[in-house]
This record gives sequence, C-alpha cells and structure tokens, in this order.
Amino acid sequence: MTGIDDLPVRDELRGKSPYGAPQLDVPVRLNTNENPYPLPEPLVERIAERVREAARNLNRYPDRDAVELRTELAKYLTKTGKHAVGLQNVWAANGSNEVIQQLLQTFGGPGRTAIGFEPSYSMHGLIARGTGTGWISGPRNEDFTIDLAAAEQAIAENKPDVVFITTPNNPTGNAVPPETVLALYEAAQAAKPSMVVVDEAYIEFSHGDSLLPLLEDRPNLVVSRTMSKAFGAAGLRLGYLAAHPAVVDAVQLVRLPYHLSAVTQATALAALEHTDTLLGYVEQLKTERDRLVLELRAIGFEVTESDANFVQFGRFDGENGSHEAWQRILDRGVLVRDNGVPGWLRVSAGTPAENDAFLDAVRELKKEQS
Ligand code: PMP
Repeated sequence: MTGIDDLPVRDELRGKSPYGAPQLDVPVRLNTNENPYPLPEPLVERIAERVREAARNLNRYPDRDAVELRTELAKYLTKTGKHAVGLQNVWAANGSNEVIQQLLQTFGGPGRTAIGFEPSYSMHGLIARGTGTGWISGPRNEDFTIDLAAAEQAIAENKPDVVFITTPNNPTGNAVPPETVLALYEAAQAAKPSMVVVDEAYIEFSHGDSLLPLLEDRPNLVVSRTMSKAFGAAGLRLGYLAAHPAVVDAVQLVRLPYHLSAVTQATALAALEHTDTLLGYVEQLKTERDRLVLELRAIGFEVTESDANFVQFGRFDGENGSHEAWQRILDRGVLVRDNGVPGWLRVSAGTPAENDAFLDAVRELKKEQS
C-alpha cells in the first residue's frame, strides 16, 4: 500500500498529521466552537434570494476585489469596533484560516519564522508549516496568561517575522490585556521589525473591546476576524482582516485570482444585512458561557476565565486523564474537545438544553471520580 511517506512530499510534512477535530454524529456537539443556533429563517430566505441573483452571473468570474463585501465588513467594524475603517483597510478570504495563510505567504515563508504563545490556536503553527515558515512555540504562564517578560525575551532572541497573539485565546478562553499586545508590538518592532497578527476570531464574545483602535499609526499590526463564530456562519467560510491599506495591497500579491466565489460573497452580504439579529444570539451565548463557568466551578472543576464562546475546564490527573474524561463524556452523548493541553478539556457554549446535557454528563463524571 502506498502511503504519504512513499511519495516525494516535502521533508517537513513527513510523519505529520492534518488538523482533525473529530466530526462525530452524536446528539450534543460542543467541540468546535460553532454557534449552536441555525441561521434565522428570514436570513435563509435572503441568502437564497442573493444567491439566485449571483447564479445568473456565474458564467462570469466574481468581483476579484470583493468591493461590496469589504465595504460592508468595514461598516460593521466601524460600528462595533470604536475605530473607523474603510474598504482600503479590509481584506476578506475563505475563513480566517485563509487570511492567516495569505499573511504567512506574504510575510513568512522559507527562511522566515513566526511565533505564537502556546497553548494557542494550533492552525497558526500548521499554516506556518504549510507555507514553509519556521514555527517558534513561545511560552505562557501556568494560568495560561502570557508571560510578558518571557514573551518579550523570546521575540528579542528569535526575531520572528510574524507574531501571533490570539485574544480571546483558543483553547484557553482568556483575553490578552491591550497593554500586553502593545508591549509585544513594541518588542516585535524593536527586534526586526515584524508583523503582529492579532487573531480576534472570538472577540464578539469578549467582556472587553476589540483592539481595532490600536491599528492607528501601527502599519505592522493586523487584526484578523471571522464570520464563523459570532455570525453563526462556520459553513460559509468567510474570514477578514483589518489593517493599514499597504497590508491589504501586500496580501493581494499572494491571493489566488477570484478566490472568493460569487456565491460566498452573496451569502456573506446577506448575513451582514442581519447583523443585529445575529449579534442577539451572541448575547445569549455569553450568558450561557458565564453559566457554564459558574456551574462547572460549583461541580468542583477548575475553569480558566473565558472571554470566548467556550470554556476550558479541568483538571484531570494522570498522563491520559483528559482523554479518558473526554471519552466518558462522549459515552454520555456529548462531544467536547481534547486539545492536547494536559489536564484540560474545552467545551463550546451550546443552547441551554445542550449545556444542561453537558453539565449532567460532567456531574456524573465527577461523582465517578470522587
Ligand atoms: N482563529 C481562531 C483563534 C480560531 O479558533 C479559529 C477557528 N477555530 C479560526 C481562527 C479559523 O476560523 P475560520 O477559518 O472558520 O474563520
């Protein structure tokens, strides 16, 4: 049987595994930080209408610069982000994963490096590898906050070309204070200067504000966002960034022509017409997230402070402790995520009924373990 290693694949891909959150068919799926609420029916209708219009022109390539979509995204950011941005500051792609890939193709690549402070979003390292960018795993404190002195030192020593800061962080859930982001930006400029990418995939769920205002006078800063979480549109695949117009010009050097299909653009525009309704679900999810934190603590778990739509809980002792707990919870029909952080698991905030099912499962688990 021919396997990957029998093919002439690049050396750095040998023996590696692809990103792979299990997609299992169980009653309660709380493992990939999706929004549990299906899109409201009027929005589904509007998407159908917009896509029907787009279908009439599918013989043509789509708007390569996605001007209408980027304009609407800029309006959304300006309205919610306490910082005015326009079309020239915004770029969009197929999910923020593609935004990150384009950033690494532009500012990373062979002979260059990127750093993240781990545990954090594993795709930053994986996309680095895919783009030939060297990956540096920076440190965090025991409580999963960023150890500023150690992080500054890692930047000064390694002089990375790209610095990733995920806030709120995935999988831990905690937000990074703006002062820390500013200090890391300064450290990155002093060391190289390098690009600093603030991944705000979960910012709409945060108790605090977006770091968009930091873009003022900082051309090497990028804020990356997505419609996968707050907009409840993970299946749409629409991510975007806000940055200095020069950054938007630079990523166009690597983007594939017509990368955003006309169907994607039409669907995203329809969703943006329903922003207020969709952000209403965010409020419900924040309430449920806060309830999960309280109830998990009441059951006797340790919980990391969360500004996201998920909660990291533990601790599970033993080498395989978190994986065994993951399996026991799954045996009760609830899928959570084992991100490989020893002693900890992550649960996404679902509907109240899904969260109740999860809480029942972990209550039973706790009883078994005590
Ligand atoms: N950034 C972070 C921190 C994430 O957790 C995720 C999704 N899990 C993404 C980016 C990618 O999201 P998408 O490609 O769906 O926009």
